[in-house]
Amino acid sequence: MNKHVHVIGGGLSGCEAALQLSEMGWKVSLYEMRPIVQTPAHQSDSLAELVCSNSLKSFRHDTGAGLLKAELELLGCRLLEIAKEHSVPAGQALAVDRELFANAVQERILKDDNIRLIREEITEIPDGTCIVASGPLTSDRLMANLAQLLGENQLFFFDAIAPIIDADSIDFTKVYAKTRYDKGEADYLNCAFSKDEYLDFVQALLEGEKHEAREFENEFFKELNFSFYENCIPIEELAKRGIDTLRHGVMRPMGLEAPGSDDKPFAVIQLRAENKDKTAYNLVGCQTMLRYPEQRRIFRLIPGLENADFLRFGSIHRNSYLNAPTIFNPDLSLKANHEVFIAGQLAGVEGYMESIATGLLVAQIISGKLKELPKETILGQVWRRLTETPQKGRFSPVNANFGILPAGDTRMRDKKQKRLLLAERSLDCLRAQLGQIT
Ligand SMILES: Cc1cc2nc3c(=O)[nH]c(=O)nc-3n(C[C@H](O)[C@H](O)[C@H](O)COP(=O)(O)OP(=O)(O)OC[C@H]3O[C@@H](n4cnc5c(N)ncnc54)[C@H](O)[C@@H]3O)c2cc1C
Repeated sequence: MNKHVHVIGGGLSGCEAALQLSEMGWKVSLYEMRPIVQTPAHQSDSLAELVCSNSLKSFRHDTGAGLLKAELELLGCRLLEIAKEHSVPAGQALAVDRELFANAVQERILKDDNIRLIREEITEIPDGTCIVASGPLTSDRLMANLAQLLGENQLFFFDAIAPIIDADSIDFTKVYAKTRYDKGEADYLNCAFSKDEYLDFVQALLEGEKHEAREFENEFFKELNFSFYENCIPIEELAKRGIDTLRHGVMRPMGLEAPGSDDKPFAVIQLRAENKDKTAYNLVGCQTMLRYPEQRRIFRLIPGLENADFLRFGSIHRNSYLNAPTIFNPDLSLKANHEVFIAGQLAGVEGYMESIATGLLVAQIISGKLKELPKETILGQVWRRLTETPQKGRFSPVNANFGILPAGDTRMRDKKQKRLLLAERSLDCLRAQLGQIT
């Protein structure tokens, strides 16, 4: 058997994949284009550079990020080990000294006899087994090659993400299920605004503090102003167009009166279920550039969401990723070429740990070490999301959050306890699969 793999991209997912495959006896050619070709966000030549925050998020098992880490530990994640060796104090989160972390990953790769690091921009997918791990800032020429292979409409170049909240935190005495004009199933939840509530909400959006765009992002936001991207305009930008813009657009109340009531709402925000179990809801049309604390404050002004618990905040940023569920086989290889696998942010996940996790996943799938993951695990659900067609709308990147896990048997009131039980269930199932429970 030819045990050689090309890994394109020496970032988080590519390095994890390379180390995993090397350990399993594979020869790896790892291609990194920096410093010959730079990305707009990376600052150094190092492998595994963290482009922004130095935090890999929480360790706590009652958070999605914490549970993902616990699962990755069981699965033998190498970059997580290195991150822990180079952590800096950050309470219950894992934050690292970014330079020490990147240097340590690079050193591990350079010392590894099975891995050959090649500083070169790959512009065409090579023949043979290959992992494309070139990230959200994949070079233009490689994207063009992927477009040829997969079709232009399978590539996305930006993310417009609305916040996702925990269903348990919704006030169901105020929010009601209904579709517009009662056409079809009542799939949406509706948050109805009075005139005063609407005016306060719009004012808060206008005054809210926004994320400062970096220079390369400004170029990208200029692009967003073309009408083609109208659906991705941040809600606070739409609010600037006039006091009535939102209630004539995304917050249109027509046909959304509460069942059994003659009162006509002044405006409505709809919530769309994120999963079959309806444990998480997306705030439709609320993609935003507001800072996270501002999102918490302002979206809690929505009637019924006063105590909303945010599983994911909204964002809009440059992000190349693929239309994963349409183009992947169940093993994360491409339908268009079974020898090509995609890992990292390009595969349709979001976040440092999620990128590392898919590097591990793809490597263990290729080597035959992993064929499936329990559906109770957060990584198993991330995997499922990448390969199963979404219920509604355009595929958007997946992160580790409790909303993607199948609901537990009990409807416990204490959310932390409930999540800890789900986490325990996940880890038990994973240990059982790995033969660590007899
Ligand atoms: C500006 C920005 C900020 C982000 N901030 C955060 C954050 O704070 N927290 C968080 O959790 N996530 C963040 N992310 C999202 C994501 O977690 C990171 O981008 C993460 O590094 C993705 O890992 P990756 O392995 O997919 O890609 P990367 O780590 O970016 O690695 C891809 C590598 O491939 C190389 N490459 C690209 N094209 C080619 C080519 N053609 N040939 C050879 N090499 C190539 C690149 O130079 C790069 O080194 C951010 C993303 C961006 C764009």
